[in-house]
Amino acid sequence: MRNRIFYGIFSVALLVLVASMVLIFSALYTQYSKEYEKSLQNEAYLVAAAIRHTGSGYFSDLKVDKRYRITYIARSGKVIYDTSVDASKLPNHASRPEVKEAMKTGYGSDTRYSKTLSEKTSYSAVRMEDGRVLRVSITQFTLLTLLLRLMKPILLVLLLTIMTSLLLASRISRRIVKPINEIDLDAPTENMTYPELEPLLVRIEEQNDMLNQRIDKLRGDVDEKTREAEFRKEFTANVSHELKTPLTSISGFAEIMKNGIVRPEDVEKFAGRIYEEAQRLIVLVDDIIKLSQLDENQITAKKERLDLYGVAEEVLYTLNAAAKGMDVKVDLSGKHVHVDGVYQIIEEIVYNLCDNAIKYNKKGGTVRVSTGMAEGRPYICVKDTGIGIPQEDLDRVFERFYRVNKSHSKEIGGTGLGLSIVRHGAAYHNADIRIQSRLGEGTEITVLF
Ligand code: ADP
Repeated sequence: MRNRIFYGIFSVALLVLVASMVLIFSALYTQYSKEYEKSLQNEAYLVAAAIRHTGSGYFSDLKVDKRYRITYIARSGKVIYDTSVDASKLPNHASRPEVKEAMKTGYGSDTRYSKTLSEKTSYSAVRMEDGRVLRVSITQFTLLTLLLRLMKPILLVLLLTIMTSLLLASRISRRIVKPINEIDLDAPTENMTYPELEPLLVRIEEQNDMLNQRIDKLRGDVDEKTREAEFRKEFTANVSHELKTPLTSISGFAEIMKNGIVRPEDVEKFAGRIYEEAQRLIVLVDDIIKLSQLDENQITAKKERLDLYGVAEEVLYTLNAAAKGMDVKVDLSGKHVHVDGVYQIIEEIVYNLCDNAIKYNKKGGTVRVSTGMAEGRPYICVKDTGIGIPQEDLDRVFERFYRVNKSHSKEIGGTGLGLSIVRHGAAYHNADIRIQSRLGEGTEITVLF
């Protein structure tokens, strides 16, 4: 770009210089030629007047500049006198255009060029009263010769001008390009040096914004993908670990029995342990399947209108024995509120909440389940007077396999997936979960549909 501007300025300067030189020269030359011709005419009249006054004697002691020539011509065209050539050697001049014209009209003029075109001669002829013609002529250089003779100073001026143009063109082009080079493309609109560049810079800024948004989105996508991958890796490791523990127990008890080391009266106890561990495995695998179905949106069942109160009633009926076993009082209250949901999932949510409220309760404690409307939305709330959850664990209890007290949870048959299923099930129904808990006092979990 800089080079283009530079050559542009330089060639314009050169062109203007040459063109103006040619114009000035030719205008001056034309003007001078005209002036010369006029003064030649005047001189012709002056000489004619002098001859009239002094007669032919005028020529006797006449000294004329070499470039000037005076010719005196008889009516017949014969040359009577000539200042530069012997008159007798000159041919008849009657046919010379200026002489012819002067004889006819009283005055005639003509300009003739030398063979080499290096000189031109202007003629002015005046007819005298006696019919003779007086001719004055002057020989000048032509424009071409003049230019050639002035070649040295012209070349010098040209050289000086070219150098000045080069210097100026270089400086100007650098000055024009500098602000463009200094544009900060990260914040293009902060460098509005040329108003002509404004649309371009605004466009660049828009493109920058668009690119940044895309990069952010791509980064977000990559982060999410990485998080998901890490999540899956962790989940697989957890699942393997959770499956391995009951399987190792089952394998151990079965091995002892196979080797016949167990006394006949202990067989039932060992078989019972194997059964318990197998049950635990079934529950675990069941939970994993439910979770992965929710996770991958593989729910085939259709949504239907469900009565939250009714679902809670059924769940508490199922858990009645467990509550009694824990010496926990269960109580259901509230209104019959309806939600559009998948029965299987809603029941699972309510079951897991109530199951936890009983499991993590204290002897003689209570579980209060209530349904109703809050903030214009149907809800179900499960409140217990159990062991409570430490504040720092409140956010984490919904993670897969997270337990506040691992051994206690395992002891009472927890898989660590119950609340995770609740969270996914709630998300499937666009419901929010609110949790409040105090260590040693109890927990309250509300699902707001
Ligand atoms: P788990 O199968 O171990 O009960 P959950 O996902 O249902 O797994 O719950 C995760 C953890 O949150 C539990 O291990 C327990 O420590 C804690 N928790 C859940 N519900 C309650 C509750 N009502 N009271 C006290 N702690 C609870």
